[in-house]
Amino acid sequence: MVDSQIKQRGVKDEKVLEAMRNVPRHMFVKKNMKPYAYNDEPLPIGEGQTISQPFIVAYMTEVLQLKGDERVLEVGTGSGYQAAILAEIVKEVYTIEIIQALSLKARDVLIESGYKNIYFKVGDGTTGWIEYASYDAVLVTAAPDRVPEALQKQLNISGRMIIPVGAAFQELVLIVREKKKYKKKKLIPVRFVPLISVH
Ligand code: SAM
Repeated sequence: MVDSQIKQRGVKDEKVLEAMRNVPRHMFVKKNMKPYAYNDEPLPIGEGQTISQPFIVAYMTEVLQLKGDERVLEVGTGSGYQAAILAEIVKEVYTIEIIQALSLKARDVLIESGYKNIYFKVGDGTTGWIEYASYDAVLVTAAPDRVPEALQKQLNISGRMIIPVGAAFQELVLIVREKKKYKKKKLIPVRFVPLISVH
């Protein structure tokens, strides 16, 4: 998976490649999906949600330029796979999921796998997680129509956010905070489930 789907498409960061090698994706999908766990595609995880394509997980992680001592906020825990990849690399991962059943399941898998640096919350991630802000990086795995203000504000100066933005068609957008300015760069076209907002 790592060589043919991820390295070949240009992901170079050794920390990301190592994390993708270490985390068994089959642990994060249902029994009937296990034969397809290393396929080059997103897979259903229940509740109408998906685990992202492995390349997209690696790509989004790489653009955050993580060194190892960061605190990262993830919006959209889903299966917990992306949280595990982050937790392999950084100091602390704070992950929010709006569907309780998914959060509880991900928590079970991640605790059973031995991760002690992941903190879980059930709720609307559109408003971030103010109690633990600010964050060195924010990674959003569901797509809003536009970038939520609160998430930008919870970034550290020089902090980086990667987020899919758009309704029918989406693009991954990289945001880098420079004091009060947020520099935005459109990266690649993607397809994500919508970010559900209750606000
Ligand atoms: N990161 C996940 C993984 O590794 O499996 C993929 C997640 S899936 C593409 C997107 C997730 O975002 C879904 O589980 C969905 O329920 C969740 N979600 C949607 N809107 C949300 C919101 N406002 N706050 C938190 N989670 C949300």
